[in-house]
Amino acid sequence: MSIAAALQAARQLIPVAEARLLLCHQLGCTPAWLEAHRDELLNATQLAAFESSITRRAAGEPVAYLCGVREFYGRDFSVSPAVLIPRPETELLVELVLKKAKDLAQPCILDLGTGSGCIAVTLALELPQAQVSAADVSAAALAIASENSRRLGASVRLVESDWFSAVGAEQFDVVVANPPYVPANDPHLAQGDLRHEPINALQSGADGLDAIRQILAHAYEHLCAGGWLLLEHGYDQASSVAGLLAVAGLEAIEQHRDLAGIVRVSGGRKRLTDAVPAR
Ligand code: GLN
Repeated sequence: MSIAAALQAARQLIPVAEARLLLCHQLGCTPAWLEAHRDELLNATQLAAFESSITRRAAGEPVAYLCGVREFYGRDFSVSPAVLIPRPETELLVELVLKKAKDLAQPCILDLGTGSGCIAVTLALELPQAQVSAADVSAAALAIASENSRRLGASVRLVESDWFSAVGAEQFDVVVANPPYVPANDPHLAQGDLRHEPINALQSGADGLDAIRQILAHAYEHLCAGGWLLLEHGYDQASSVAGLLAVAGLEAIEQHRDLAGIVRVSGGRKRLTDAVPAR
């Protein structure tokens, strides 16, 4: 069967753009090569493998897990069902950390709940002067982050840690996290790709804010004077998170909209000196 005919058959079951991605992954070719070789014949092995990936995709498995890769901030990250699939809106979080850290001579940055490592590895590559640490409670996630860090040539220190628990007394110029923030009863958890992603990376208590509360319980002590905490959160959590940041003692609260116009990242700064303000 030709490439064109195989794609034509696949589009009865899944969107053709996804079928192209799966076939490129399987043949190890680019979309441009595929277009230019539409009449080329697939052998029986190639066809069987392609049809199997189409069947799995049609049954709901995420394309990123079937290909084992997802692009983030212009680089390909390995992914597996042990880690959340990198989302485009998380690039906003990266951009904001870059703005905070770019003028520091040697910024110390900590990424909590690093998963695939997409945030930490991107930061390390974009800020060669930075010292980037990344924590995750999941050893399986850290193995993926480690592979991504090595393959992309980043220098990231990986720590197996439940939020700050194994981080010691260290302080950072920027602490960043894309924690789980979906409320337990959110119907989205039972839909689409989310069904296949690690639930611990998505869901966080009745209001979705448990992980953010846990991070904020110890964020202040892990920030340098003037250091920033930046958090991704859900579409309707901006005012709750702003309140929690203030209760955690952080100032200069900032909130930022993603490309869809949703307030997606909130941050706050530890005050510049430890002096108790005069009354
Ligand atoms: N933005 C993701 C979603 O709702 C959730 C990611 C997260 O919990 N950090 O699909």
